[in-house]
Parts: sequence; C-alpha cells; structure tokens
Amino acid sequence: MEALPEAKAADNLYVGGRVVLPGFVDSHTHLVHAASRAEEYELKIAGASYEEIARNGGGILNSVKKLRAATSEALKKRALAALREFAANGTTTLEAKSGYGLDVTSELKILNLHQELLREQPLEIVSTFLGAHVVPTEYRGTPRGPQHYVSMLIHRLIPEVAERKLAEFCDVFCDRGAFSRAQSEQVLEAGERHGLAPRIHAEQLTRTGAAQLGMQLGAASCDHLEQVNHADIRALGKSRTVATLMPGCDFHLGLKQYAPARSLIDGGAIVSLATDYNPGTSPTLNMPMILSLACTQLRMTPAEAIAAATINGAYALRRDKDIGSLEVGKRGDVAIFDVEDYREIPYYFGVNKCWMTIKDGEIVHGGSPYRM
Ligand SMILES: [Zn+2]
Repeated sequence: MEALPEAKAADNLYVGGRVVLPGFVDSHTHLVHAASRAEEYELKIAGASYEEIARNGGGILNSVKKLRAATSEALKKRALAALREFAANGTTTLEAKSGYGLDVTSELKILNLHQELLREQPLEIVSTFLGAHVVPTEYRGTPRGPQHYVSMLIHRLIPEVAERKLAEFCDVFCDRGAFSRAQSEQVLEAGERHGLAPRIHAEQLTRTGAAQLGMQLGAASCDHLEQVNHADIRALGKSRTVATLMPGCDFHLGLKQYAPARSLIDGGAIVSLATDYNPGTSPTLNMPMILSLACTQLRMTPAEAIAAATINGAYALRRDKDIGSLEVGKRGDVAIFDVEDYREIPYYFGVNKCWMTIKDGEIVHGGSPYRM
C-alpha cells in the first residue's frame, strides 16, 4: 500500500497494537421505527409467544401504528442516534428495510428517510423495500383482503419505489401469520421486474419453503433459517444465495432453536450474520454481541463469525467488490478493537471493545490516535 501514489497524502495512524478489522457489514436491519416495544417484553417473559402477541394487536402492527403517527423528524432523530451507536460498535455499512408503514405514504416516508440518512451521516445505508412485512389492519376484514394488499404492492408501491430509486432490494416476510409462499413469489417477481433484487425472511417461525423459493428466484439472501430441513441445508450449500443468521432474535425471544450454522457452513453455504435490529424481536445494534451468540449458540469459531459479519455480509448486499475486507482497491472501512487477540471480541460478551471506527478513510467514532 505504501507504494501507491495515494499513500503520499495519507495520514499514518498509530493504533497501539490493537486489533484492526474490516468494518462490520450488517446485512439485515429494520433501522427506521418509531419506538421500542418494551411493553411486550414482560408478556414474552411470562410465556406469550411472538404470534400470540401479534394476534392481540402487538407485534409488527403495534410498530406500524406508532410509525404512521410519527413525524419524519422524530423518526430521523431516532435513526440518527441508532446510526451513531452502530458506528460505535464497529459497523460501517448496514442494510435498512421499510415495513412498518404498510401504506403508500408511510412506506415512502421510511424509504425517503433512508436516502436522507445516507446523505447526511457517514455510514453507508442499503435500502430494501419490505412492504410485504405483514398484512395491515385495514386489509384484514375480508378473506380477499390480503390478496388485495399484495395487488396494491405489485401495481402501486413497487413501481413507484423503483421509479423513484428508493430501494435496491425487495424483501418479503414469508411465514405463518405473514405472507404465503405463493404471495411471496408474486411480490418478489414484481420487484425483480422493476429492478429490485430479491431477498427473503425465510423459515423463522415455521418451515414454509421460503428458502427454496428464495434460491429459485436467485435471491441475494435467505434470512433467519431456524426451521430449515436437511434438503434446505443441502440446497443452500450448493447455492450462491447467502444464508443470513440472526441469533439476536432467538436470544431476545428466549427461543432455544437457533439456526443450524454448523451444518450450513460444513455443507458449503455462504453464512452471514446480522443484528436484525428491530423493536420487536432483536433490539440490538451491537454486532460484537451477535458474534458472541454466534460462537456460543451457533458453534461458529470467532474467525467464521467475523468473516460472516464482514465479507459475507458484504456479499449478501452485493457489495463484496467494494467493502467487507481490507484490500487494496476497496473502501477504507475499518473497525479497531481494544483487545490483544481477535478472539477476545466475542469472548468479552456484551462489552463493546470497539475503540475506533473509520468509514471511507474518515474517523467516525472514537479513538485518539497519534498521527505519524
Ligand atoms: Zn427482519
């Protein structure tokens, strides 16, 4: 690197022997939301399932009600605070999904915010349209309601989102209580026709065949995968579709069944790790904590977990040529940890050892290095 002409004008930072990694690439978040759902936390602890809470007006629809009532300014303020925390934990790029609006105005409000946030703060935000998160209340009264909502997404929202270049990916929550495999296929195909690449929430609460659908459509990533079967694991092992695992969800919900990371990795699947930062199932933006869960609960090695949270996350966002590793020609996205050995990053669970974060060559968090 020192031989490159650009190096002449570069600063030389002395980081005191700390561990230097590529910045984390968090390939699955629900960044923009109005409030926490702490009021549901005790219900979960008392034993109510995620689906029971959703049936009683909680869950995603609770967040939808709050988001529709919130101003763009309030949403932006909350998201900016979160982005500072992402940076403080070593994340330099994150994907962000809509999906708490579920009507034209509110979905566009979220997607417009993704663009504003991208312009106004240093972290890179990759925007995903998740209009098919759940069926909103106003379409639930009649048996044909859900299909009418899918039609609205296909004929109204997806074309507008694509036309205004508000998202790069289209996502669907394919599960019991959300969208069927057939509906998911319709939505993802419509997205694809308009230039939005598919990704999918797959096999989280029940096995629906969503992962197979994702691979069949050439999805960038199938996310969750707690309920995959042997055939799914074999297929993911042969596929270029990334298996994105989010152990923070299972940890927060107190579920015992984590995704079978070992079988996926041993079978040749491209495994990435993400926080799934969202107010209902994974209220964390702390990637080092996700690494700890990946090591202890998913039996990944620290090295596998770090690769999953950097280069494989970048691949899941189709940015592996640009970010996710420290190489000549890539962006200067770096996270520096105040540890002596990289294995100490997941080892000190729940403790943030990130000492400095650099995005595109600029310090965006912490550190007081001396320049030499
Ligand atoms: Zn999600």
